[in-house]
This record gives sequence, C-alpha cells and structure tokens, in this order.
Amino acid sequence: MPKDPDIPHPFIKGRGSEFCRGCNGGNLFSALNLGDLPIANELLRSQTSKIEKYPLHLRICPECSLGQVADVVTPERIFRDYRYLSSISSTFLKHASTYVEQRIEEGMFSSGDWVLEIASNDGYLLKNFLDLNIKAIGIEPAENVAEVSRSLGISTISEFFTSHLAIKIFEIHGYPKLIIANNVMAHVPDLVDFIRGLSYLCGPETQISIENPSLANILIGMQFDTIYHEHYSYMSAYAVSKLSKMCGLHLSKVEELVIHGGSIRYWLCKSKADNITHASVGEVIESEISNGLFDPLKWEAYSEKVGLILNNFLLWLQTTKLASGKIYGYGAAAKASTILNSIDIEPGLLTAIADASLEKQTRFMPPNGTEIISPQELFSEEPTDVIIFPWNIKSEIASFLKDNLQSHTRLWCVIPNMHEVTK
Ligand SMILES: [Zn+2]
Repeated sequence: MPKDPDIPHPFIKGRGSEFCRGCNGGNLFSALNLGDLPIANELLRSQTSKIEKYPLHLRICPECSLGQVADVVTPERIFRDYRYLSSISSTFLKHASTYVEQRIEEGMFSSGDWVLEIASNDGYLLKNFLDLNIKAIGIEPAENVAEVSRSLGISTISEFFTSHLAIKIFEIHGYPKLIIANNVMAHVPDLVDFIRGLSYLCGPETQISIENPSLANILIGMQFDTIYHEHYSYMSAYAVSKLSKMCGLHLSKVEELVIHGGSIRYWLCKSKADNITHASVGEVIESEISNGLFDPLKWEAYSEKVGLILNNFLLWLQTTKLASGKIYGYGAAAKASTILNSIDIEPGLLTAIADASLEKQTRFMPPNGTEIISPQELFSEEPTDVIIFPWNIKSEIASFLKDNLQSHTRLWCVIPNMHEVTK
C-alpha cells in the first residue's frame, strides 16, 4: 500500500452536527435553516404515502469555512437506488466530452496511463476515454446506475469511495494519471476519509480534478434550492485548500465553470516543497472572503431574502391559480422538492410535474403527492404556465418546451427570484 507519513489523522468521527466534519471545530454558525424537509430525491410511491421529514439546516465552520448539514440520512439509503442519470442532459454530455478533449490537447496521457472516476454515474464521461483507448475505471455505488456504465464496456466498481477502497485499487492498478471526482464530495459524510483516499491514490505524477457547485453561488446566486440532505458539504476554494492540506494534498489551480449554475473545478496534486500555485487560487479565495462567504451577518441577511423569495413564489402560485391558470412544473428534481417543501403550498396549486425519467413518472412529489407525468402528457394538458425547476439547464429545457407547447404558455424559474424564461 502507498505510504504517506505526512497524512495526519486528527479527526474524530460520529460527533454529530455540533462539530465540523472537515476540521472537527465546534463553533459552527447558522447560515440558513430550512426547517424539517423530506429527503429530496425520495419520491413517494403513492399519493398518500407517509412522508418522513428531517431537519435541513446549513451551518458553516468558521475554522475551515466548510458549509455543512447534519448527516441525518445515510448515503446507503440515498444512493443505493439512485434515479439520476447524467446522460439525460445534453449539457452534461457536452461538458464531459469537452473536458476530455482539453486533457488530450494538453498531452496529459502517455502509454499505460489510466483514469479513475469517482461517482462515474452511467459512464457519460468515461466513455470518452474508452473511445480513445485510454484505460478507465469507474466507481459508482448505485448498482442500477453502475450496470448502465458496465453495459458501455466501462469497468465499474459498485462501492462507496473510501480510503480503504483507495488502498485496494492501488494494490491492483497502481497510481492513476488522472482522478476525476465530479459532484461527489458534497455527498460524502466522512469527507476527511474521502480526501485521505484521494491522497493515497495520488502518485507523484497524478492530477486530481474535482468539480463541485460552490458555496459562493448559494449565497450570491440565491441557489438555496441546492441545499438538501444528500448534500452534506458545501465547498469553497478556501475549504478545499485547507482540508486538502490536512491530508497531504496541494490545491494548485481553480477554474470557475458555468455548469450547474456555477461550479468550481479544483486541481489537486501531491504536496511537495516545489509545488506551484496558480494565481487563480488566491483570486477566488479573496473573492470568497470579500463576498462575505464566511460572515455570519451576511448569512443572516441572506436568510431573510430566501424567506421573501419563497413568499413571492407562493403568492405567485395563488394569484395565477385564481386567474384560472393551469400551472405545471417541469423537472421532478431535488431542487423542486426543496422549494415546494419549504413553502406552505396547498394541494392542487401545482397540477403536476413533468419529467423525462420513466422511473420518476411512477412516483409522486411531496408535500402533497403531486403527480409526476411524462412530457407528452404535459403537452396534451395545454398548461398556461410551466415552472422549470432545474434552472441550471433552463435554456435546454425551455427550448424543448417551446418546441412542444402552445405559444401562449409562459415558462418560469423561481431562482434567483421568480422570473419568466423568455429564451
Ligand atoms: Zn471546520
């Protein structure tokens, strides 16, 4: 197994929500309390199914700046039967193929190099490496999703990534040239063990590329609907820099991306005395501090603003319904669940939510058991108004809806504030 005597182990697990899951500090401050909500991706099997609710409270650690919610729901419950397939979005597919093209243009790979992707989903990214005859291994704990990836010929391990699994992978395959971990760190309760696992697998020539929505976008872009139980941690460049250093890794560069409404790509490598840090790291951290990302007063004002947005949305639903509106939603995503369960919505205000996923079409969305229908059913219902919940791909969805709905149907987004989507 790889040895790294510099990796510290100062972390105590299982200390509940009062302690930071990054640095174990105990002075977390409240950033946004959304109250008790159902698990966002857990759709109901019948309209009358019992809804289990759990506290959803974003707190921030003033020591390492990590945003976090208490791990009241285990990853096993959330991710063993996951219904989210990345390939469903053409935006994500394009993002993945462009990423791979960039690595090839840089000349990253030599003969024998291989790529590891953690949370490889249905293989939407790794299939690009496979097409170039570059060995790729995926890790995807959701067995039903891993099967899709394997059907494309991608070697896929169906387990959660831990430091233990990292050692097993190293013993069989050695160090990868590239480790990709996109939109997964937020989902890991034991974040330090995860980063330690990355450190075990990071050889002298390994590059680690991590993409994650930024805490800054939750604050600045009012993206509070990306807070849900399965997102245990909310990253910033400052937090990634600090936590990586604790585990023997070095944050060498950050890239700001437009995907998912604003994400950051973090580049990590093994800590060495001669590590070079790109100017982007300092620039992004400075902007995080100047935007008040770690300031409790800034978050207090933010909480009030979120309350106003939710009230405005509810008022809009009520007045539109009164004016004989036929209001539907599009995208039965976790974002929709956070918003609909954060307001006191009466049954029937939202007629149904359309979603392209066949699995979701057999389920119902809390709190009122709102029916999930197919896009074709939505088109035949002739709605007056459609709310697009996945605002991160709103252009893609709006263009699809406009091609299929009557021209007078209005399209809306709730985030960052209720607005009509005109293109
Ligand atoms: Zn901390």
